[in-house]
Amino acid sequence: MMPSTDSFVQSHTHGIHVIDTGFQRPRFDASYLIVERGRGAFVDTGTNHSVPRLLAALEAAGLQRADVDFVIATHVHLDHAGGVGLLMQALPAARLVVHPRGARHLIDPSQLMAGARGVYGDEEVARSYGEVVGVDEDRVLTTNDEMTLDFAGRALRFIDTPGHARHHHCIWDERSRGFFTGDTFGLSYREFDTGRGAWMLPTTTPVQFEPEALRESVRRMLAFDPQQMYLTHYGPVGSVERLGAQFLESLAEIVALGHRAAGAADRHGALRRGLSELYLQQLQRHGCTLPDDEVLALLAMDIELNAQGMGIWLDRLASAR
Ligand SMILES: [Zn+2]
Repeated sequence: MMPSTDSFVQSHTHGIHVIDTGFQRPRFDASYLIVERGRGAFVDTGTNHSVPRLLAALEAAGLQRADVDFVIATHVHLDHAGGVGLLMQALPAARLVVHPRGARHLIDPSQLMAGARGVYGDEEVARSYGEVVGVDEDRVLTTNDEMTLDFAGRALRFIDTPGHARHHHCIWDERSRGFFTGDTFGLSYREFDTGRGAWMLPTTTPVQFEPEALRESVRRMLAFDPQQMYLTHYGPVGSVERLGAQFLESLAEIVALGHRAAGAADRHGALRRGLSELYLQQLQRHGCTLPDDEVLALLAMDIELNAQGMGIWLDRLASAR
């Protein structure tokens, strides 16, 4: 008998299923299964280790493996696309939909793996991601800005959204008036939900954080007046107008922090401390009652990687001068 999917699949509205990929910790990394007229499309896949969960979610939704038309990667970072190749092996009719700048990395993942080893180290990459599987070139469909994909009669519109990564697009689902945002619209962990709703933070992880481009990408999405944002980290969020304003304000504070810390002797330490303080202050105002050490433990990886990504951005600024 198939194990119950209740612990990791949640049915949302408009045929959208939220799958907890199990990467890192519960409710950290999501994959989405969209079901339309008996056909399926996945948005982001987690890693190789997530694939059994995605296939179980498909079965629980009453679909066969041949019923999946598309596997969509918002961008090619491994927590979003590491499982794409392995998943595609199980889905005979599926095509991979990817940003043109990311396609070659999912066809031949060697450069992607080398990049991840540079950020996370060999051991962590082997443990978290395993061996990433390449996708046959003839199964790959690249997008362009404003392209609309016909998914069983449901329009999915692709918007080029640089700022977190240059190989990032977001997907506008007209039906639910929501965007699948990957990492462009930041991170929002359910542990920080309060009576005021969700809290979120922009992600500035290595190596292509570009604040101006990120601001424009987010503004462009907000202009659609979305009712929902489907975040990979983690889950669907409403109150998009409020969260959008919070995002843009936080991004401005992060940029200011970067300029303040740029000349510090221990720049990385100054960025880490600055981000930690920013998050703690915001969460306090948000009515979060978790103790500080618990907040910092939940955000430990984000603080480290966001500080690294800001460092790379500041180096790029300095060398452009
Ligand atoms: Zn990413």
